[in-house]
Amino acid sequence: MTTLPVTYADVAAAAKRIEGAAHRTPVLTSATADGMTGAQLFFKPENLQRMGAFKFRGAYNAIAKLEGDARKRGVLAFSSGNHAQAIALAGRLQGVAATIVMPSDAPAIKLAATRGYGAEVITYDRMTEDREALAKRIAAERGLALIPPYDHADVIAGQGTAAKELIEDAGELDYLFVCVGGGGLISGCALAAHALSPGCMLIGVEPEAGNDVQQSLRKGEIVTIPVPKTIADGAQTTFPGKLTFPIMRALVSDVLTVSDAELIEAMRFFVSRMKIVVEPTGCLAAAAVFGKQIDLAGKRVGVILSGGNVDPAALARFIA
Ligand SMILES: *Cc1c(COP(=O)(O)O)cnc(C)c1O
Repeated sequence: MTTLPVTYADVAAAAKRIEGAAHRTPVLTSATADGMTGAQLFFKPENLQRMGAFKFRGAYNAIAKLEGDARKRGVLAFSSGNHAQAIALAGRLQGVAATIVMPSDAPAIKLAATRGYGAEVITYDRMTEDREALAKRIAAERGLALIPPYDHADVIAGQGTAAKELIEDAGELDYLFVCVGGGGLISGCALAAHALSPGCMLIGVEPEAGNDVQQSLRKGEIVTIPVPKTIADGAQTTFPGKLTFPIMRALVSDVLTVSDAELIEAMRFFVSRMKIVVEPTGCLAAAAVFGKQIDLAGKRVGVILSGGNVDPAALARFIA
């Protein structure tokens, strides 16, 4: 195989760095979900992670690796929400100042939480402004280390610890379903699964309206799409990353898509049957499993539930 920009050794090193700071989230099972699919499902509920999503893993790892002056000057992140909170909290825990560039229409709960963790928040218009250009300019002006939400080796390595823990705790898997935004989570998880459960098929899941990674993998090159309209606000990315794309190309078997209606159905399932709150984006992987796009009968299947940050009012509307 060609050399990939991040390795399993990086994931294992990240696991040591985040130990004691990140929660080792449990593995959840549900006889009802198994009955619906015929599979043996192992859910990794990162909605129960600190700040409510797996993003804490990558953020903490990336900040932990900063040294000297870079550490003193602080970090900057651009994010539609969870990465912002993750950098804000991981920064506070490690005594590193955080500045966050967020869309002005980000969910209120995410804006408030980011400020609550002590970060400085700078907002921008998602439809007209290029967040990456804006973030780069502010980082250069202030001398801050820019930590992007997915296209960063230390972020990818940190995210992979979710699958490392899942496979260590649940055993080897036939399939691992992971939601895909820019591909940081699935890239890290694919590296972990490849090392710890060889033969495990990695399946990515995107919102129907935002299948930039599916298109990119099928075309063999990075495809850029317009900002997708979907309730999966954590997966409204418009293109895969320069680091995540080659990793996904090498290690991900396929990328499926699900509709917003399927996400709502999955959210309802998690609240009513498993008593957990999973945000729309966090339901992507499970919705594809529940939709039986792949015959999983008799298989051992890992499902990453990526986060749980949804406004209570929005949750009530979705599941009503
Ligand atoms: C960021 C995020 C994703 C997408 O992760 P990528 O690493 O960009 O693929 C999925 N779910 C939640 C809850 C997120 O916060």
